[in-house]
Amino acid sequence: MEMAARRQALRLAARALEQRLNGDSSDHGGAELPCPCGGSAQYHGRHGKTFESALGPLHLQRAYYHCKQCESGFCPRDRALGLESFSLTPGVLRMTGSAAALVSFEESSGLLRELAGVEVSAKQVERAAEALGAEIAVEEHQQVEKMGEVAPTMYLGMDGTGVPMRSSEVANRAGKQADGSAKTREAKLVTIWTAESRNEQNKPVRDPGSVTYSAAIESAATLDTSPELSDFAARVQREASRRGFTEAQRQAVLGDGSAWIWNTATELFPQAAQILDRFHAKEHLSQLGKVIYGDSPEGKQWIQTRYDELDEGRLQSLVEALHRHASQYKEARDCIHYIWKNRRRMRYPKFHQQNFCTGTGVVEAGCKVVIGTRLKRAGMHWTVKGANAIIALRCSKLSGRFEGFWERRSERKQAAA
Ligand SMILES: [Zn+2]
Repeated sequence: MEMAARRQALRLAARALEQRLNGDSSDHGGAELPCPCGGSAQYHGRHGKTFESALGPLHLQRAYYHCKQCESGFCPRDRALGLESFSLTPGVLRMTGSAAALVSFEESSGLLRELAGVEVSAKQVERAAEALGAEIAVEEHQQVEKMGEVAPTMYLGMDGTGVPMRSSEVANRAGKQADGSAKTREAKLVTIWTAESRNEQNKPVRDPGSVTYSAAIESAATLDTSPELSDFAARVQREASRRGFTEAQRQAVLGDGSAWIWNTATELFPQAAQILDRFHAKEHLSQLGKVIYGDSPEGKQWIQTRYDELDEGRLQSLVEALHRHASQYKEARDCIHYIWKNRRRMRYPKFHQQNFCTGTGVVEAGCKVVIGTRLKRAGMHWTVKGANAIIALRCSKLSGRFEGFWERRSERKQAAA
């Protein structure tokens, strides 16, 4: 009864809205209107089209103008009402963007039908979400307004993760496959958060709701001679400006061992403490333990002892323990090199004394949350353009910025009309 009553109520509302709009022919602006191409477009009567709205399908009759010069046509009313996107009304377009930021195109289509009673095919969701995401990505480059409070200590994390690509997008690119080819492109993520809250042991923990993200498949490298920042470094700088990262009394950058992360950190924030995410360091030790001992109790004990050495800052005995396996395992030599290179970023007892949060996967979780759960699912293969649009849409949604984007977009559309 409930669902039937809702359907009926929406249908009535849709008919009322249709009647009101179709009874108003003020969108007829005379026999001729200027065309965006510079030519002039002739009135061709009223044309009907069905739009998917929050009330269900709307059948609208609108004044139609056709331009001979560029052989295209337009309806002034569509522009005025913001109906120019994929036969979706702005209300449905917004719902579609929200859904597709969180779940797959197929699932979005199902949720829109089930929850809102609107029909948007998976293909329509994909096209609309990618178009919105592309708009968000463009706006992100220009919209660098301050948001949120500056905390006494601010944290900035960087990480990368592979996004599965269509084969045409990775042709002739070097990668990690056995034959040297690539199946993925690396998406790079910057995340900023605060950790003023304390747990029962009075250790800093991440403040709920303080996390924002920005990410894209783009380069973190520039020529040494270039005065310009890399695309990714510029992204990091924009996100840091938005959050007031450098205005904090103390700043910490967290990441794994990748060179591009520390190069970017040193270039942009030489004053910030550099901390190797403890979660990443432990992951390396645990992988090495499994290589040497397999999945045995002895191996588990060995890994735990290395963890303790790491947490207690006993890097010397940690490295000595690895040295015992260095002649036999390349992985052990790599791990020694990794610790040596990052030793200053692994002074965990000192960082803890200073009340810094040394990360238990905050950065790693960022990549999983933003990229993994949405873009790395069975059967998904992306283009760079499509992936970057959905990443932008998702970052905006998860960082609480989608609403602001939507308001600015509506204002822009109104002003243009
Ligand atoms: Zn024209």
